[in-house]
Amino acid sequence: MTGPVLRLKRGRDRALTHPWIFKGDVADVATVPPGSAVTVIDSTGRIVGRGFFNPRPALCCRILTRRDEAIDAPFFARRMAEAVARRGTAELARLVWSEGDGLPGLVIDRYGEAAVLQCLTLGMSLARPLIAAALREAIGDLPVFNADDEVGAKLEGFAPARGWLDRAGPSAVTVEEDGVKLRVTLGGGHKTGLYLDQRVNHRRLADGAAGRLMLDAFAYTAGFACHALARGARGAVCIESSAEALALARENFALNGVADRAELLPGNVFDELRRIERDGTRFGLIALDPPPFARTRTAVDAAARGYKEINLRAMRLLEPGGRLATFSCSHHVSEEAFEEICRDAASDAGVTLRVVERLTQAPDHPVLLTVPETRYLKGLLLEAV
Ligand code: SAH
Repeated sequence: MTGPVLRLKRGRDRALTHPWIFKGDVADVATVPPGSAVTVIDSTGRIVGRGFFNPRPALCCRILTRRDEAIDAPFFARRMAEAVARRGTAELARLVWSEGDGLPGLVIDRYGEAAVLQCLTLGMSLARPLIAAALREAIGDLPVFNADDEVGAKLEGFAPARGWLDRAGPSAVTVEEDGVKLRVTLGGGHKTGLYLDQRVNHRRLADGAAGRLMLDAFAYTAGFACHALARGARGAVCIESSAEALALARENFALNGVADRAELLPGNVFDELRRIERDGTRFGLIALDPPPFARTRTAVDAAARGYKEINLRAMRLLEPGGRLATFSCSHHVSEEAFEEICRDAASDAGVTLRVVERLTQAPDHPVLLTVPETRYLKGLLLEAV
């Protein structure tokens, strides 16, 4: 058997198909340097897999392989090649999505001529040189920007890396999403630069855009609005609280030649929806894409109230035949719970809505059947009857 051992308590069978091992699952574990690989065995001594162990967080080990193999340069090269092959040659893509690609704790995005690398565990941050080498072997020698998540790094106890890995790349790039140009600042903005998970939905909502007035609530850099305007929307109003995001939204409108039809509303969506309702403006398309309201399990009730409030308000702003794309990216709010919240909102708003389609994250955020947490973006495309 390879390396030091972590033995699970009896009956922890979930570990056979789910990569997360919590401290409460562990019967005993060898003393190893934090962030190094251990071999996970069940109570009978059978190998469950191998993963990086960190005694600090409650989620102390994430399984990287189900085989008794070394987690070394060839391992990362294999996993990376598989992940990249699943995406093809796209210049704008999430290349590696953590659990979904068998590399829990690692996210890599490609933005044209640069890549952005995010380590979410101590083990991955220590393996960064191997990961970067594997990435360049798979997609070519691109400049790599480190954009570790601060919250994750604190939980795991490592200093988050931010900045170019070894040589500088462009400070900003312009990428294309289905013909729509979007400006991305490397090291700026949210996530790794864009909400790549919404790529398919930007396009989907814009399908019915011609001649309509659009409301993009929680707009970030106005991905939904740019797509709708590019497909003939008569106008778009974008509500967003971050000045940095609004500045990029303004650049995106100019890049796509739609600035004359776009309006930016700096402010709080909760307040602005109420104000618009009083003003009497109604919309043919609405995107409602809030940040995760429930970051923890205990925040679910408050989150449900928040989701209901904004959905109710947005539904009242739809003209007959108008479409609303509404989302929740909270891990702790299930698809069923989100649909129930929307149902309540529709009933309070007195609006009948047809479910045109159930929406989710872009396919380069692969979902594992046995890891429900990997399907985190829930959305409904609704049409006012
Ligand atoms: N729809 C975007 C992503 C939205 S992310 C896209 O497809 O690219 C959520 C955005 O909501 C963030 O940009 C955040 O700054 C903004 N935000 C968070 N709370 C807000 C509030 N109460 N009012 C307005 N904007 C808010």
